[in-house]
Amino acid sequence: MRRKITIAIDGYSSCGKSTIAKGVAKKLGYIFIDSGAMYRAVTLYCMENKIIKSGKFKEQDIIAALENIDLEFKANPQTHLSEIYLNGKNVEKDIRGMDVSNMVSPISAIKEVRTKVIALQRELGRSKGIVMDGRDIGTNVFPDAELKLFMTADENVRVQRRWKELQSKGVNVSVEEVKKNIAERDHEDTHREHNPLRKANDAVVLDNTHLTMEEQLNFAMKLAKERSGA
Ligand code: C5P
Repeated sequence: MRRKITIAIDGYSSCGKSTIAKGVAKKLGYIFIDSGAMYRAVTLYCMENKIIKSGKFKEQDIIAALENIDLEFKANPQTHLSEIYLNGKNVEKDIRGMDVSNMVSPISAIKEVRTKVIALQRELGRSKGIVMDGRDIGTNVFPDAELKLFMTADENVRVQRRWKELQSKGVNVSVEEVKKNIAERDHEDTHREHNPLRKANDAVVLDNTHLTMEEQLNFAMKLAKERSGA
């Protein structure tokens, strides 16, 4: 019989990690968790409560605020996808704007922020049958995951994809701004002290620069089936 496994998908910003993670989760009947949404929700809370002001903050103020932040995922009854709730409010849309994108990397680099968020991620993955995407899932959150993918794509392709995605959501932003944000986040996420983005030794690289969605899904599903003993 096929056993439930843990699938960790890491990689650079705007590589399409969530899209493939959602597709694989749907095919396998697993839950999908977007770990970046948690760091984004913490950032949103700090912005809304003026703990981050004009792009500036004191680390100790962020740490002190953590006890007032409650994060939860609930399935959307229509899409069946899990959506993030911050102190009881659905913030799935509010966390996607450029204001949050521009602050999330320095906030996610704070050790105490990561400790809180990672504890919740591990709790969610306790029973396996989960696909989680992020930056440190295969290296740190689930080092024993049966399948680890490390996604990458040409930078210009990533910029165009993210820009189009933002346009379709009605976010008015220039290509240049998107490019700067992606470059800065990749730099900060790979150079931070705690749980930086890097490929796990046992991760399989998936460069999707020239791949269609179907090709990527087939690639991931073949591995998922092999690793779950199907
Ligand atoms: O995946 P997404 O782009 O929404 O992630 C937003 C940010 O959250 C990343 O740029 C990174 O700073 C942080 N993050 C992280 N570890 C994760 C997932 C996201 O540090 N596992």
